[in-house]
Amino acid sequence: MGYFGRLKQAVSGFFPAHTREDKNTKTAENTASPRGLPNIHILATGGTIAGRQTGAGPHYQAGEQGIEALIGAVPTMRGLANISSEQVTNIGSQDMDEKTWLKLVHRVNELLTRADVDGIIITHGTDTLEETAYFLDLTVPSGKPVVLVGAMRPANAVGADGPANLFDAVVVASSPDSAARGVLVAMNGNVFEARDVTKVSTTAVQAFAAPNFGPLGQVHDGRVFYWRSSDHRADHTSARQHPEFDVSGLDMLPAVGIVYGHANAPALPVTALVEAQYRGIVSAGVGNGNLYHEVLAALADAASRGIAVVRSSRVAAGPTMRGIELDDARYGFVAAGTLNPQKARVLLQLALTRTQEPGEIQKMFDYC
Ligand code: ASP
Repeated sequence: MGYFGRLKQAVSGFFPAHTREDKNTKTAENTASPRGLPNIHILATGGTIAGRQTGAGPHYQAGEQGIEALIGAVPTMRGLANISSEQVTNIGSQDMDEKTWLKLVHRVNELLTRADVDGIIITHGTDTLEETAYFLDLTVPSGKPVVLVGAMRPANAVGADGPANLFDAVVVASSPDSAARGVLVAMNGNVFEARDVTKVSTTAVQAFAAPNFGPLGQVHDGRVFYWRSSDHRADHTSARQHPEFDVSGLDMLPAVGIVYGHANAPALPVTALVEAQYRGIVSAGVGNGNLYHEVLAALADAASRGIAVVRSSRVAAGPTMRGIELDDARYGFVAAGTLNPQKARVLLQLALTRTQEPGEIQKMFDYC
């Protein structure tokens, strides 16, 4: 047994394999096709992984190639799984919208109820990949693997990273060890959980990190190795609770905006969102989610009008804690914990489909 095998054996005694509710899980083992391989379905949405460079310069267009071309570039993946695919859309993920999120989640949930689908891969642009991943993480009840994957270099660039990332995504989606871990992201040899992963470089191939908890595992030589379980309860002592949000009847989500904090920040963005009748505002505050006094006054006013206000931080790592320099209870604010502003926005949109009450929303932020 090699190094990874020994390490895996060593850690598996300490960490439970899965922490998520597992009732719908059918692993690759128990639904294997006659070829003895799992059935993996790819939903393609575009991004640089499907991008094409046109001239000699660096310019390229995201979302140009169809999924069949991407699969064709990685013939070895057919040795890992029976691959099927469909093109959901073909866009740069800067154009991702809620309509597409809802279309995706409806399709994912439909596919995962089928006994002949063991796992799903979603190809996606990297710009907003983390938001789609977290949205699906909160809305897909199945424990079967769902893996998002992208690339930093267009499909026809020298050193394109898409083929290797796609191969790794098939490895991850095909592994029974990936079941019941929530939605995963496979990028540059790492496996991340949807909740913590974020894009940290505009250009590097190592574009993603999980600033608070680190990657869940790694893909190495066609195998996935998990180092730890998913554990995000506020006290970090027990398994993350995962109430799924049922969006099956929805064709839109509540409007939530993000306001970026900085020195001498004006109240104007907050008042604009209030006037536009947004139902929620996420503050990307400074430090531990702190607010310039004019912004604080505007957000307090918004909260007093029944608009849900969540304090997150523009700082890359560390939690935004309740009641440290700011009395959240007094203002009716919610603290985002370790969710960055764009993830906090996703959770707040879903929370608002259930309640507008800050105490109830705070509980969701503590446990999602
Ligand atoms: N703008 C592209 C996108 O998000 C970037 C990428 O995929 O890396 O679709």
